[in-house]
Formats: sequence, C-alpha cells, structure tokens
Amino acid sequence: MISHTPRKRLGQHFLHDQEIIQRIIAAIAPQPDQHLVEIGPGKGALTFPLLQQRCQLEVIELDTTLVQLLKQQTVSSEHFHIHHADVLKFDFNSLITTQPLRICGNLPYNISTVLLFHLLDYANAIQDMTFMLQKEVVERMVAAPSTAEYGRLSVMLQYRYQIEFLFAVAPRSFYPPPQVDSAVVRLVPYKSPPVTVINQPHFSQIVTQAFSQRRKTLRNSLKGLLDTQEIQALGIDPHRRAETLQLLEFAQLANHFTVNK
Ligand code: SAM
Repeated sequence: MISHTPRKRLGQHFLHDQEIIQRIIAAIAPQPDQHLVEIGPGKGALTFPLLQQRCQLEVIELDTTLVQLLKQQTVSSEHFHIHHADVLKFDFNSLITTQPLRICGNLPYNISTVLLFHLLDYANAIQDMTFMLQKEVVERMVAAPSTAEYGRLSVMLQYRYQIEFLFAVAPRSFYPPPQVDSAVVRLVPYKSPPVTVINQPHFSQIVTQAFSQRRKTLRNSLKGLLDTQEIQALGIDPHRRAETLQLLEFAQLANHFTVNK
C-alpha cells in the first residue's frame, strides 16, 4: 500500500465521519446515469459511496500520490474516470455531454473562493453543486445586504445560483482536523437569473470595484465608472456603501454603465 502524509498546501483534511459522509451523499442524492464530477476525491471518502450509485463519475485530483492510491483501489471504466489535474486550470467544457453536470466535493479551503468564481463560467452546463466549505465562506455566500458577511462573493453567486446552507460540520469529522468549522452548501443555477443584466463582465466590474474598498461610499468607489449624478438618477443614494445594495441595485448600476459607456 502506498503511504500518504496529509499536505497542508493542498488543503488536505480527510473526512472520516461516516454519519457526515452519508448525509452528504443523501444531500447529493445521485441517480443512476447522472453525470457527477467530484473535486478533490482524496482517499475516496465520498468517491466510494458515489461509485455504488452507478452514476457516471469523473474525479479531479491534483495530488499524484492520491491519484495512484485511487487507481489502485478502483477500476477505470466508461462510468469512472480519474483526471490528474489542477481543478483551477481544468476545462469543464471537456466533460460536457447531453447530461448536465452535478458537481460535488469536500473542497480544499485555500482555493475555494477562486474555484467558485472559476465555476461561474460553466453555470449553464451545471445542474447543481454540493460542496463542503469553510463555514465562514458559506455564510458569505448566503449573506443578505447590510451584514458584515455580505460582499462580492455573495452578489456574484446570488446572481447566478439559488444557494442553500445545508448543515454545519465540526473539525473532529476530519483527519487532520481543520482549525475552522465547515458547512455543506448546495448551489443550483437559475434557469433565468433573478435580475436582468445586459453585460455580465460589466456587472462583475461594477460589483468588484464597489467592494474594492468596503468603507468607501459609491460616489468614491465607482469613480471612473459612474459619476455621482448618474448614480443619483437611478434612485440610488451615492453616499451609500456597496454592502447596503440589493442585487437589483447592482444590476441597475451595471446596466446603466453598459448603455451609457
Ligand atoms: N474528498 C476527500 C475527503 O473528503 O476526505 C478529500 C478532501 S480534502 C479537503 C481536498 C482534496 O482536494 C485533497 O485530496 C487535495 O489533494 C485536493 N486538491 C487540492 N487542491 C487541488 C486542486 N487545485 N485541484 C484538484 N484537487 C485538489
């Protein structure tokens, strides 16, 4: 048997709590013939139960030793494929067939927000995503305006997905235990987003710049993109801060920018 020491750099905290593993599998509820993609299978805590569900399963793992371990313990077939790759560079288009993707994983926490932004590019091809993440990140994902957790991540994800905080998981469920609490979250892409955005890169630009300095008012943070009069003409007080704005108000600012620039 190949030996393996957990690598902090790769966010390796392996799930060993059978009750939590079963709750995650029940939350995913994989059906035969569905197309599942697991990010960071590690030693297979979720992979082996998923394989029993007779779905089409692709796993993406960066750690060479863990890939070797998984290969030793599984049989590659048309229903199961191991991709030895960095998920941040992975082209999910290469997996798209007629079946939408169901993505899941106990994610490496150090890359989770970058990964969530990376996956936004593929939202149209995704049926749903079920992830274990740092609890604090999940709280930011579901945060409402005028709370400390509300920020760029909340707005960009809430525009694309319906997001549900499923349950919290304590550090003792992992080996080695992380220093933070974790939580399982489900994201389901909207068929049509809850607000209309004419140009998505502009929406992203406005949201990013508005939150670039949280304490600044819109008239200062959006300088160079929209002036005070334009913000005011939309019925939005330019003295407000980004953290108080609803999704619809971000869409209004972005659409005005698109139409007038
Ligand atoms: N799924 C396993 C479990 O629940 O026990 C392992 C979860 S562990 C938190 C995260 C996994 O993601 C590790 O196996 C790690 O090697 C892998 N990983 C880290 N960075 C990665 C990357 N950039 N691309 C793909 N896999 C990565």
